[in-house]
Amino acid sequence: MSGAAYRDRAEMDRKRIKEALEKQAERPTPSTSKGAVAKEKERLTAGKLITPTIGKPGKVSDGEEFETDSEDSDVSGSEGEDTSWIAWFCSLRGNEFFCEIDDDYIQDDFNLCGLSNQVPYYDYALDLILDIESSNGDVFTEEQNELIESSAEMLYGLIHARYILTSKGLAAMLEKFKNYDFGRCPRVYCCGQPCLPAGQSDIPRSSTVKVFCPKCEDLHYPRSKYQGNIDGAYFGTTFPHLFLMTYPHLKPQKPSQQYVPRVFGFKLHKQS
Ligand SMILES: [Zn+2]
Repeated sequence: MSGAAYRDRAEMDRKRIKEALEKQAERPTPSTSKGAVAKEKERLTAGKLITPTIGKPGKVSDGEEFETDSEDSDVSGSEGEDTSWIAWFCSLRGNEFFCEIDDDYIQDDFNLCGLSNQVPYYDYALDLILDIESSNGDVFTEEQNELIESSAEMLYGLIHARYILTSKGLAAMLEKFKNYDFGRCPRVYCCGQPCLPAGQSDIPRSSTVKVFCPKCEDLHYPRSKYQGNIDGAYFGTTFPHLFLMTYPHLKPQKPSQQYVPRVFGFKLHKQS
């Protein structure tokens, strides 16, 4: 995909997220659940650095309609008081490939080493991800809110790429794999083999996420265009292979059949 097209898609994705964030904002129950507040207090008492933050999405009212598909992008099932930003983000349409990262992992600064220079509004984005509410009432413009929201998405993605290489992350992805969350190989002779997400680069904004089929050992585009907009660096080049090394019993045998083109039942001659 060309750079420009990719940026366009990234822009679309940002709009989609923004719209979803607006929806979230309109819900009667605020994101500050008891659980989140309690968690925040724990963090405070644990002496973690708390920076002022925006809450969930500001009120934006450009009323832009992005997509009106029959599938609903809404949070499935029991959204409500206890929906964390992470749970909400992972439930957005197109974000099915992401697993939920443990709060503990994100709160360990060691795991985030080097990310602060890669993500604008890093501190605010991090607070948004961790549901830490603004303490001194910083006010942001709509534009700033949007930037923080897209930064939070990027930061989550970059942390995710690291997390899924840890034993906990691999285990979380195993559950998703068993659930066919990453889709199945479209190749007929792979017989519906479940796939794994894979990046073609570890550098953000290089290419979108693909799915790797462990049977034919090839890369394919994800089936959903929403999934197809996600940055491949949020999964990375190592993940599917480390996953299969960790769970070798999941590595399937190579496909036994190969498609043979025929004309009127005859195989084609090499020189034809
Ligand atoms: Zn395959």
